[in-house]
Amino acid sequence: MPLTSDQVREILSPHPLAIAIYNNLVDFFGNGFLVEKQVTGSQSTFVFDIDPYPLVFKKVVACVVVDAGNVPASLTHELLHLKLGSLGFPRLYGINNVDPILSAGQVQVIYTQLSNVVDHDIFLDEFLATGLPRGDFLRRMSKRENPEELISVLKDSRIKGLPKKYARPRYYFEYLKTWITGNHLHNLEDLEIANRLEAGAREWLDPMGTDLERIRQWFQIGAHRSPETYVESSNHLLGILGLPPATFYHLERSISGQIMAVL
Ligand SMILES: [Zn+2]
Repeated sequence: MPLTSDQVREILSPHPLAIAIYNNLVDFFGNGFLVEKQVTGSQSTFVFDIDPYPLVFKKVVACVVVDAGNVPASLTHELLHLKLGSLGFPRLYGINNVDPILSAGQVQVIYTQLSNVVDHDIFLDEFLATGLPRGDFLRRMSKRENPEELISVLKDSRIKGLPKKYARPRYYFEYLKTWITGNHLHNLEDLEIANRLEAGAREWLDPMGTDLERIRQWFQIGAHRSPETYVESSNHLLGILGLPPATFYHLERSISGQIMAVL
């Protein structure tokens, strides 16, 4: 169910900088921007709704679950994902490859989740500047997979729909997600799990730990934090994980206010 502007501003009222983020999105996207509330559901989400062929912008949506957690925080988080689109940050379009297996769900999920995690690294500081608590930046999964179990599942390639040759990218992605989320939330449990995943990688995939060190350096270099270098940087990260490059589109606003999606 859509929320009115007044309702959104009421939810965000203790956080003027969050209201400013909302106002920026209204200015940029106009009618092509909706905030919806869901009464039930586990997680707030955002949508860049485009038609892929031909590429046409339809709308952007922030969808917030109102009966769980810190509502201003989860709404602000979703708005910040959308704001990256308004700032010209390229958005994931497709996977640039000739390998039909890459369209398999599990591999697609890595691309989508990876771009989410990269987004988080770009806008964490702006989230904190609103005064919202770091611990509410995102919701950790209530039940973390046991790292030892995850290691053995990935080694055996027992994950449904995941071809064996993608076990390594999947494993590196799991490390990346856990390590960066631990850093974003200052969560020691995640960082401890990341250490155990790193130990598992050294036994199995990456004896010198060089690949995981390259992942950490990639975040420190930070080339993904600028729209101009985002594509090159993202594809570099995919390469470290052992995945083919992706293609991206970006959004532009014409003088008349029309939003265009451009490859
Ligand atoms: Zn997010």
